[in-house]
Amino acid sequence: MLVIGLTGGIGSGKSTVAGLLADCGAVVLDVDAVGREVIAPGGLAEADVLAEFGVGVADAAGHVDRAALGRAVFGQPEALARLTAISHPAINTELAARLAALPVASLVVLDMAILVESNLGKLPDGNGYTKVVVVEAPTELRVDRAVARGMSADDVRARIAAQASDAQRRAVADVVLTNDGDRDRLAQRVGELWITIMGWASAE
Ligand code: ADP
Repeated sequence: MLVIGLTGGIGSGKSTVAGLLADCGAVVLDVDAVGREVIAPGGLAEADVLAEFGVGVADAAGHVDRAALGRAVFGQPEALARLTAISHPAINTELAARLAALPVASLVVLDMAILVESNLGKLPDGNGYTKVVVVEAPTELRVDRAVARGMSADDVRARIAAQASDAQRRAVADVVLTNDGDRDRLAQRVGELWITIMGWASAE
């Protein structure tokens, strides 16, 4: 099974690329969605998050209130580190279970906003991602795209500043896919990427 980590900063087009790779036949696992699921009712990390952060992050039903949890860690590196220490191992456990349930010949893409900044997707026994694809786009284009989706330009810029830099992502990339053209151009580049991916799979 070939597992690829797909990452890129906000507005780079990472999710669009994930969708195009799914069209090619990849199994895409949305790591950000798994992150939400592990703290949802019954999720692997729910009880530990509530134990660590207390009733202040619980809703009326006693489940994790994601907005309150976000406020509890926003701008507070120490609190964020405590949350990460609970949630990231749970996400990796969940990912390992999902990968184990897939046919061995699957070509899997882990769609993850946070890759360089974390151990997400790095699983025991070499079962995590072994290749990294980074989607990149000029900052102004990223801001325009995210604004078109309804975010304020200031929020996008703050998010970009808080995320890993292009240089940090490039340093871990096997392939950098530049999304600076129109959708057709992107589809063409993903087609080329798919050929590269086929090569990786056959070399396994
Ligand atoms: P990310 O997941 O990196 O934040 P998305 O894939 O959601 O980015 O793309 C951000 C927005 O830009 C979406 O609305 C998407 O449809 C649009 N988009 C992505 N790539 C292109 C492109 N090449 N041309 C035009 N719009 C694009």
